[in-house]
Amino acid sequence: MGRKSYDVDLAVIGGGTAGLVGAQTAAGLGARVMLVEERRTGGDCLYTGCVPSKALLAAGSAAAAARRALRYGVDVEAVTVDFARVMQHVRAAITHIEPVDSPEALEAAGVSVMLGRAHVLPEGGVRVDGRTISARHVLIAVGSDPAVPAVPGMGDVHVLTNENLWDFEVLPRELVILGGGPVGCELAQAFARLGSSVTIVHRGARVLPREDPDASAILATALENDGVRILLEDSAATVTADGSGGGRVTTTSGRDLPFTHLLAAAGRTPRSAGFGLEEAGVVLDDAGSIVTDRHLRTSVPGIWAAGDVTAHPKYTHTAGVHASIAAGNAILGPLRTVSGVEPPRVTFTDPRDRRRRPSDWARRDRADGVPHSPGPRRDGAAHGGVHAARLRPAGKDRRGHDRRAACGGVPRRGVPRRPAEVVRHRRGRSDPPVPDAQRRRVECGDRPDAEGARPARAGGGRTIGPAPAGA
Ligand SMILES: Cc1cc2nc3c(=O)[nH]c(=O)nc-3n(C[C@H](O)[C@H](O)[C@H](O)COP(=O)(O)OP(=O)(O)OC[C@H]3O[C@@H](n4cnc5c(N)ncnc54)[C@H](O)[C@@H]3O)c2cc1C
Repeated sequence: MGRKSYDVDLAVIGGGTAGLVGAQTAAGLGARVMLVEERRTGGDCLYTGCVPSKALLAAGSAAAAARRALRYGVDVEAVTVDFARVMQHVRAAITHIEPVDSPEALEAAGVSVMLGRAHVLPEGGVRVDGRTISARHVLIAVGSDPAVPAVPGMGDVHVLTNENLWDFEVLPRELVILGGGPVGCELAQAFARLGSSVTIVHRGARVLPREDPDASAILATALENDGVRILLEDSAATVTADGSGGGRVTTTSGRDLPFTHLLAAAGRTPRSAGFGLEEAGVVLDDAGSIVTDRHLRTSVPGIWAAGDVTAHPKYTHTAGVHASIAAGNAILGPLRTVSGVEPPRVTFTDPRDRRRRPSDWARRDRADGVPHSPGPRRDGAAHGGVHAARLRPAGKDRRGHDRRAACGGVPRRGVPRRPAEVVRHRRGRSDPPVPDAQRRRVECGDRPDAEGARPARAGGGRTIGPAPAGA
């Protein structure tokens, strides 16, 4: 029986971090790759996320440093902020990086680029503006949207999100931010330092709820020192427009908060609807995230997913690393897993909340339970970032088990952890159990035999070889 031929080896849907990295990884392996982007390559990180928010924070930091300068004997007479120029600086940061993520750069790396909205086809491949592209594998990298809470009256005001925040030229006078996660905290501090009166309304008992309580407390104090008002265990009950673009938020605890600008920073919604995923049989979790196994396979053979559209942490470097794994697995076979791949993460407030996984620290043979000192900051301020690395004794894994025992006395270095510890959400149907003997070989750093590393099953990600079953 002849092999089915395909237009491309890998069709990548989405040109954000995950799509860019996934496409370039596959092209670098010699695959024929088509990337489809409906708006502009670069995605959230470049245009509406990391880059503009960090550029805004840098402007806020400069204002804060100027205000603090007298402490060091430097007299800065009056600090004034020209917000229109701040926004010019933000846009210049984007423009500076834009060429790196451009279609031209992708094409130079061997990736074909198509602009348009892609639909996943149940029979395999994608359709873009009426054109069908057959693909041996598809990588879904469509990202996420800002979640806007459904509050009565919200529809009567112009709600800002990270997507439409970067267009205006006038500093918000009274800014109410719904949400005290990383995005809410970063933007609160930036705007407060630039001169806005900022209130965070946060449902939880502390800001940065996913981080350690000590980190939340330190950051809350820092934000308050910058003038941010933080309302905890409270949320917007109603929003009333005042007819001039602003309005008031009434909170569930009865507070009345006038605003000129209202910003929703209340989490992310995966963009998993409306382009054929469900029709193709791709399983989503309750939040709408694509369910993947540890190789980043979805429930459908030949369809892979990475980035914000999955249930993994929504960070740009996570998107990039995972996309590289998914694309490599699609092209070469499922050799790499997300086990042990937990990149460090940072909330770029001042002080920053920096996280490293325990494995980084265990390798340095630190003693258990001794907190890593944040150390002095270069600018002489009282403390450095909030380090929350959990430590463990040398030679022990994070559960306190002897790392040598499983490997016949040879310490494991940088080995993947067991899949169940990493993939906390539902495992994909196509992820078969890993036999213990094989797992031990992989964990001890031996090269598994080819059969074990690439189980012969549907969706096994072979570029050269038979097509996935059902494709
Ligand atoms: C304010 C803010 C600040 C952030 N700061 C940081 C930070 O400092 N560090 C960090 O690590 N992370 C940060 N993040 C998170 C980071 O931006 C995201 O995790 C990352 O950009 C996700 O990349 P992605 O490729 O999954 O999705 P995206 O970048 O959203 O890319 C998805 C792309 O898919 C396209 N698309 C969608 N559907 C289709 C379709 N059907 N057909 C074709 N194209 C489609 C979209 O147009 C989009 O370009 C921040 C996020 C925000 C909101």
